[in-house]
Amino acid sequence: MPRILDGNRVRDEIKSELKPRVEALAAQGRAPGLAVVLVGNNPASEIYVRNKIKAGTESGLWVDLQRLPATASLDEVLALVARLNASAVHDGILVQSPLPAAMGADAERRVFDVIRPDKDVDGFHPLNVGRLVQNRATLAACTPSGIIELLERSQVPLAGSRAVVIGRSDIVGKPMALLLLHRHATVTICHSRTADLPAVARSADILVSAIGRPAFVTPDFVKPGAAVVDVGTTQVSDRALVERLFPPGSKRHAAFEKRGALVVGDVHPAVADVAGALSPVPGGVGPLTIAMLLKNTVTAARARSGWDGRERRRGFERRHAGAGRL
Ligand code: NAP
Repeated sequence: MPRILDGNRVRDEIKSELKPRVEALAAQGRAPGLAVVLVGNNPASEIYVRNKIKAGTESGLWVDLQRLPATASLDEVLALVARLNASAVHDGILVQSPLPAAMGADAERRVFDVIRPDKDVDGFHPLNVGRLVQNRATLAACTPSGIIELLERSQVPLAGSRAVVIGRSDIVGKPMALLLLHRHATVTICHSRTADLPAVARSADILVSAIGRPAFVTPDFVKPGAAVVDVGTTQVSDRALVERLFPPGSKRHAAFEKRGALVVGDVHPAVADVAGALSPVPGGVGPLTIAMLLKNTVTAARARSGWDGRERRRGFERRHAGAGRL
């Protein structure tokens, strides 16, 4: 059996590291503030937002849910973001996607483009993406940053490894590839036009799949002993598919019987026979996305409060203490 890359454990580690930082900011007068903008009533978004509010509040953040009806116009969303940009008490702004389709195909991009870069806790603003390219990002996309935490804290060696990322989206695939590159992995990005995808994937010491196709990555994609990270989350209600993947009597099958649907990753269960390490779905990447949102919010709050500057100065003074005596 492969080593399990345990996202819940890493999430708990990150949250306990954040605790003293949140307390220090609160002691200064104000807990870090996160605005969550939810437009409409998409059921999946409602659940994601509820989880974000719960995790943030439990960690001592002030989470401010700002709702707009599904009928809201793009201008109304932009006006709300402008108010939050100007607010002294909101350190981070997250606009939950998807926005209602009626707002137009480029609505999300237009909204993300106007979020103040220093409050852009999703790391989607072009300035933050540019900083990520140059390896000087302070706010990077949450899911790929969480995967780096998962790999590093599970002692998966990155430097010198061959990494293959399947998926080239702006929110997962591309930032994932950059973060691995900055940690000295040799990175290949694959997508729907990649020729002989299984052969490319098989060259990987670290294989990250972020495509959203249930059980697409089968054992023939995986080099024996490789670390496999499953980002995909697809809601499956097709009983025949579930039973092909998870036989009756298994825990996952029981979960399907209970709820009538199951969140299934990109990675086929049989990959467990080949991989050296594997992130499960659920319990792998998912918990880290929210943990990194909290971390980014605390980072943004510290930067805005001048805390980072003070710590840097203190470190400088410590390092250079006594220099005058030379
Ligand atoms: P996306 O924007 O739909 O991008 C999917 C990518 O997969 C595209 O680059 C696409 O290639 C590629 N792809 C699709 N079919 C493929 C195929 N047959 N072979 C090779 N590549 C293929 O999706 P996303 O937002 O990156 O999300 C990917 C998955 O991760 C989804 O299941 C999503 O729910 C999940 N996710 C999970 C979390 C979490 O916290 N656990 C967070 C974010 C996303 P083209 O570019 O060529 O079309």
